[in-house]
Amino acid sequence: MTKLKNKVAVITGGNSGIGFGIAEAFRKEGAVGAITGRNEATLDLSADALGTNFIGIKGDVTSMNDLENIFKKTADKFGKIDVLVVNAGGIVDGVPMAAINDVTEEHYDRYMDLNLKSAYFSVQKSLSYLNDGASIILIGSSAAHRAAPGMAIYGAAKAAIISLAKGLSLDLLSRRIRVNALSPGSIDTPVFGKIVPQEQLEQVKQIWIDITPAGRQGLPSDIGKAAVFLASEDSAFIVGTEILSDGGLTNIS
Ligand code: NDP
Repeated sequence: MTKLKNKVAVITGGNSGIGFGIAEAFRKEGAVGAITGRNEATLDLSADALGTNFIGIKGDVTSMNDLENIFKKTADKFGKIDVLVVNAGGIVDGVPMAAINDVTEEHYDRYMDLNLKSAYFSVQKSLSYLNDGASIILIGSSAAHRAAPGMAIYGAAKAAIISLAKGLSLDLLSRRIRVNALSPGSIDTPVFGKIVPQEQLEQVKQIWIDITPAGRQGLPSDIGKAAVFLASEDSAFIVGTEILSDGGLTNIS
């Protein structure tokens, strides 16, 4: 288990769900580095669970100053960064996804800021702290391909993530920095508890299980394994594209 031995990684949103699953998979392969999030309690718990080779850095990915601070602190502690996973995103706190008649300009901006603008600037602010030959993984979503009611803005932001992976790969070619998108299907994480009332949680998860050809929701560790592949030399010739880890969800109509 040494595919990422001594590689320095930053995983935004590594204090929960998919991000934590990626951090665990990286740790098992020998990586060191930082996880980030805004919630200090879960950040401390998650960093402790990862052991002494990982630190937690508090930061809001929609703040340019916080992004700068995340990469500077990581590089000060571990040296230049080899792997960046841009994972923080999803639901804007207290602002459920909504259909067009319920969307305000502020709602639109906050979803785009969290799910697209923050991804672009996570990459930009990391650049002076990245090693040449680094791997950048942008977490997309099957929602980029498979529409659902009320999810137009989120789906559009995640579709743009795939385009960012393509375009940024070309921008960063001279430094041999690879940028790829990794798009999960329905993954069993705390996000469901943020959008579904407790009494409907199991029912909603069952719907995702029923419509996913693989017959289950994914686990954060499923995405962790795919992220190890994209972070490591095993994927050295994979540049500016998207890998879906969705149990076949996007193949059904
Ligand atoms: P969680 O809600 O479990 O985790 C979201 C993470 O993002 C948390 O670590 C949270 O930390 C962080 N975050 C949210 N807003 C901010 C912010 N403004 N600044 C900094 N960090 C922030 O969700 P998932 O693990 O499910 O989602 C992770 C990623 O995977 C997201 O990009 C999501 O869109 C994507 N995804 C998830 C799928 C799923 O089925 N679960 C499917 C497809 C894609 P904190 O609150 O402490 O700031």
